[in-house]
Amino acid sequence: MNNTPNVSYFCPNCASAMVDTLVLSGRGQCRACGWEGVMGDLLAMPHVDGSSPEELFRALGGEVAMSLAKEWAKPFALILVSWGFIDETNIQQELQLYVKNAASAVLASVFRTREALEQLRKKQADEHVAKKGSHDA
Ligand SMILES: [Zn+2]
Repeated sequence: MNNTPNVSYFCPNCASAMVDTLVLSGRGQCRACGWEGVMGDLLAMPHVDGSSPEELFRALGGEVAMSLAKEWAKPFALILVSWGFIDETNIQQELQLYVKNAASAVLASVFRTREALEQLRKKQADEHVAKKGSHDA
C-alpha cells in the first residue's frame, strides 16, 4: 500500500478506498470511478482500529446504502418522479441506481466531514498548546 502509516486515503468523488497515490508526482487516481487529481484532493482519514480502509469502506458503505434504501428510497422516488428525473415505466431500476450513487456521495461526505473535523480538532489542540506555552513563559 502507498498509504502513510496512520492515514487512509479515499476518493473524493466516490469515497472508494481503491485509490493509488503517486507520491513522486503528488497525484492520485481512483480505480473504482476513474477519478484523477492532486493528492491534496483525496480524503484522508486516520485508521480505525483493526480495519483496513477497504473493510471500513465496505462495512460503512454497506450500512449507509442499506439505511438509504430502507428509510429514504420511497420519499426520494416521489421527488425524482415529480421532477421528471425518473421514467415511471422503469422506476425500480432507475431508482436503484440513484440510491446507489447517493450512498456513494453520502459516504464521501462522511469522510470529508470527518477529515474537516480532524483538522479542526488538531488546530484547536495546537492553539491550546500555543496558549499554554505562552502562559508558562
Ligand atoms: Zn472514485
